[in-house]
Amino acid sequence: MTRYDPARLLSQRTSAVEEAGIIAMSQRARDLAAEGSRIVSLTIGEPDFETPEPIRRAAAEAMNDGYTHYTPVPGYPELRAAIADKLQRENGLAYGPGDIVVTNGAKQALTDALFAIVDAGDEVIVLAPYWASYAGIIAMAGGKAVAVKTTVEDGFKAPAERIASAVTPRTKAILLNSPCNPSGAVYTREELEAIAEVVRANPQLCVIADEIYEYIVFEGEHVSIGTLDGMAERTITINGLSKSFAMTGWRLGWLAAPTPLAKAAGKVQGTFTSGANAFVQRAAIAALTGDRESCRAMTETYRRRRDRVVQRLAACPGLTTMRPAGTFYIFPDISALLGRAVDGQSLSTTQAFCDWLLEAHGLATVPGSAFGDDRCLRISFATSDGELDEGLTRLETAVAQLG
Ligand code: PLP
Repeated sequence: MTRYDPARLLSQRTSAVEEAGIIAMSQRARDLAAEGSRIVSLTIGEPDFETPEPIRRAAAEAMNDGYTHYTPVPGYPELRAAIADKLQRENGLAYGPGDIVVTNGAKQALTDALFAIVDAGDEVIVLAPYWASYAGIIAMAGGKAVAVKTTVEDGFKAPAERIASAVTPRTKAILLNSPCNPSGAVYTREELEAIAEVVRANPQLCVIADEIYEYIVFEGEHVSIGTLDGMAERTITINGLSKSFAMTGWRLGWLAAPTPLAKAAGKVQGTFTSGANAFVQRAAIAALTGDRESCRAMTETYRRRRDRVVQRLAACPGLTTMRPAGTFYIFPDISALLGRAVDGQSLSTTQAFCDWLLEAHGLATVPGSAFGDDRCLRISFATSDGELDEGLTRLETAVAQLG
């Protein structure tokens, strides 16, 4: 008789998905710090600010006012109305409250959307470098992520022709993330027009537009692809409060989609988790109907840090850096440094390079391989000026050691 082994119970679906590289790097940095090393971590993907006070107050009041019960699966009607109003005013997108599903963060919105449309073997185009979780969610939904590569020379933006050549009859969606984590690239209206043309020419597919970094734009403007000709009916727009309002731990996001897709996404959510937290939804109404002063102030701080990081990395030999137009990340190309040997160890991959940075210099970053890229590493500047300066100094010392 075979012995019971809980590990044998695991589904192929879960076994196939790797632990996100970002989580692994952050954990290793924490372990080393717990052992007494002074580690500088530039891995973090969340604002280093507190949630604005009026939003915190609204949550406390809502809790005391009895907003502690189940909510409608797609969210309170007042919140969906506030989201519809925000989408109209700030993005020029006309969605009714019935086309909106409030979710436990943008990540669940992506999950709801992908589970709503992906069948086994369906393909979803992701533009590399892409946010690590996309591949995992697509795989769990039974689909196949098809990566379209971009490099620093492309400004990390995929030309429409390159996307078009990846489309097959099995392609269900193009996952577009502008501003982009990890590269900081922001697609222009013209670039989005060209992508929209590809989408309109292929009636089997739609766009999933992840706009979570919408407010963190330093140059140019954020354009919602759903506003382009014929694209409202072909776009699922995803957003949330985590990055723009410094509310990562609150878990509040949403999707807005053509009615049949919104209904299906709501069905997925009703099956897995029901509605988002009740009092957080009330606080979200306060966030969306309030002013954007604190959002603007945070973006100004990121801009100042971005300028500082760009300046220091530009002086770092062996690194090719693109000036990010948005987000709080920068994604220097370190390929000229890969393959060198140090302390008898070959730094042949971005993972090996980042492991060495952490072990030998106490600096935690995230390897490009976590984002489907084998040339770069990601540095987050969502951290204090002091930590950032110290981290950059360590990076400069490490690069100098490579000669
Ligand atoms: N989309 C992108 C591109 C992200 O970088 C993140 C978080 O890092 C998310 C979605 C998830 O955001 P949320 O906290 O709302 O689930």
